[in-house]
Amino acid sequence: MIGLHSLREKMPVFQEEACEFALFKAKWPNGYRCPRCDGAAFYLVASRRKSLYECRVCHHQTSLTAGTIMEGTRTPLVKWFSALYLMQTGISATLLAEVIQVTYKTAWLINHKLRHAIQVCDESRPLKGDLQLYGDFYARPVMSGVFDPPDQRDQPAVVGASIDPESGEVAEVKIKRVPPNEFRRRLFGVDSFGTFLWRHVTDAKSEIQSIEIVKQSDSEGVTELGLIWRGVIGWLARTFGGIGPKHLQAYLDEYCFRINARPNSFEMLLSLCGLTQTVTLGDLVNKKKAVRSVRWSGLANYRQHKNAFQVS
Ligand SMILES: [Zn+2]
Repeated sequence: MIGLHSLREKMPVFQEEACEFALFKAKWPNGYRCPRCDGAAFYLVASRRKSLYECRVCHHQTSLTAGTIMEGTRTPLVKWFSALYLMQTGISATLLAEVIQVTYKTAWLINHKLRHAIQVCDESRPLKGDLQLYGDFYARPVMSGVFDPPDQRDQPAVVGASIDPESGEVAEVKIKRVPPNEFRRRLFGVDSFGTFLWRHVTDAKSEIQSIEIVKQSDSEGVTELGLIWRGVIGWLARTFGGIGPKHLQAYLDEYCFRINARPNSFEMLLSLCGLTQTVTLGDLVNKKKAVRSVRWSGLANYRQHKNAFQVS
């Protein structure tokens, strides 16, 4: 377990003004744009609580956080940036609350809003090319003596990856739960990957070169997808003591984001935060609605996110 003390020692010190500048660049990578008339010139109007950007043409005023994942927040940007920094390895809401000195509820909400930005981007980037697939079951570690509720049964999930044709290594990976009502068997077969292929792989057949189903290990040892699966299970156990089915998908997406965005996961996440509309606590708790909104805004933001990923 990572200790609070060692975390605080390793954390960079963020300054509010530098965070504002960084968020400005993430929100407007090509310079300020008025959300109403698309004008490029603004005055900075300093008010008591926060700075407002006023369009020189139509005088529309907008705040720095409007339209970003931080919209409506009362938490200083330095604390958001600390949370962003800590998501480079992943952190529980309990520990985050202690490190950045906010309530557990605020820390939980910040972590899940960051995961939401990750999920919106993920939705707009289907896998393509040479694909590998691996299926397994996630079982949350059971604490001894504690009643195991029915929703804690093993969750079927698929690890799917685009393979770089030159290096043969994973270029981009997704791990997705298979809805239990669509998976009635106790083992993965060749017909168990249909939902994954339909939801998370490009629907342009010309962009799919090959599909290979792999095992956790073969004659040469543990496969790359097998290693990723072991990695995510270990991380969920160490950092959170395991995750229940309701929010499991968000954590799986967070883990894959780090692999896909390496070594720039901080810059990538900041960019996504600047380009992704926020989500409410109600949407996050009512997962169904949140997933639907992810899908729609994912389509709307496709081009922006594609550009965001090309920054590095
Ligand atoms: Zn304007």
